[in-house]
Amino acid sequence: MSTQLSTTIVACRVCESANIAPVLDLGRQPLANSLRRDQSEVLPTFPLIVCRCGDCGTIQLTETVAPEILFKEYVWVTGTSEGARNYSKIFCERLAARCEPGKLFVVEVASNDGTFLKRFVERGDRVLGVDPARNIAAMAERDGVPTVADFFGMDVARQIVERDGQADAVFARNVIPHVANANDVVAGMAHCLTDQGIGAIEFHRADVILEELHYDSIYHEHLYFHSLHSIRRMLDRFGLISFDVTTSPISGGSYVVYFSKTARPHTEAFITAVRAEEALGTGRAAPWEEFARRCERHRTALRSIVESKKAEGKRVVGYGASARSSTMLNYCGIDDRLLDVIVDRAPLKHDTYTPGTNVLIVPPERAFALNPDVVLLLAWNFRDEILAQIRAEHGWAGEVIVPLPGDPTTIEFA
Ligand SMILES: [Zn+2]
Repeated sequence: MSTQLSTTIVACRVCESANIAPVLDLGRQPLANSLRRDQSEVLPTFPLIVCRCGDCGTIQLTETVAPEILFKEYVWVTGTSEGARNYSKIFCERLAARCEPGKLFVVEVASNDGTFLKRFVERGDRVLGVDPARNIAAMAERDGVPTVADFFGMDVARQIVERDGQADAVFARNVIPHVANANDVVAGMAHCLTDQGIGAIEFHRADVILEELHYDSIYHEHLYFHSLHSIRRMLDRFGLISFDVTTSPISGGSYVVYFSKTARPHTEAFITAVRAEEALGTGRAAPWEEFARRCERHRTALRSIVESKKAEGKRVVGYGASARSSTMLNYCGIDDRLLDVIVDRAPLKHDTYTPGTNVLIVPPERAFALNPDVVLLLAWNFRDEILAQIRAEHGWAGEVIVPLPGDPTTIEFA
């Protein structure tokens, strides 16, 4: 059945070269966001394989799952994360600082609940969001952020320009890596932008994924693992010239690349980042082959830590039922035999079971009422925020297994 629900690429999605080779096989996995209330429901599984284009170097998944299946139940809302709300202010200031002075017309691709565009509204700018999730687009509208409920691409870009004119700034945060036809999104961004306008694309950095072993960021929704190298090549195809970069804490390490139709001098930050990436070899095959070997070693190490705690008779709970944790649990074979429950603060996830690994998701108070001995910190990229919450709200002490970045570690939390 699953074969009709997905297709396997025969050529690179960006440059159409047939020169693609597998890098890492994480096995067949269910969709990472397919939490279910009924334990007996059987979920389809799809190959989760990363490959590399030998021509343009883009790291991508071999499998494209049909978007109507992938985004059927989309529960993530930007505004729910405090980190995202704080970061939206910084993001807005940085983008506005690179634009012409004065009031701007700003378009956001996949604007979610409008958290980021609200910052521009506060500056007095005119804004327009585009997001395919109707319920979330309606939520943004109610909050004063005009939003088109549609998939952004060349068609929508034409409609925007006809009705509202070209934009002084266009940005897409963590969306380009999720769209099979990313070329159409970038073409639309180019169409929207004035000649002097500034575009920005934010993405989880492939060099950080590579170095810190973020294999948990590999799931079916995340089709590309971009580097500065591969993003620049993609932008070049549409006459967009990148010139600057800033870092962002989102996803445990992201880049925001700034570009324009008019060539501008490369900033120091940009030159340094490009050099650092070249030194690491993100664009070459060998570091990715080594990445695959390190992932296998990590799986063995993490699983044996959790198994040994369980063998000592300790009660282990997970923290964070995200798409990322789904990949890690499935790949490492950590399921309801090893974890009692998984804690998550999002009410929509409560009393559902994790896909493939069948662990019950509960609110924090229910998990800590079980007096766990060990917490497996699946949402390790929010480590400080979560540990502070556990301390303040539950007064819990015990062992915390931190799976990433790099090798898994265990800390005493008192
Ligand atoms: Zn390619």
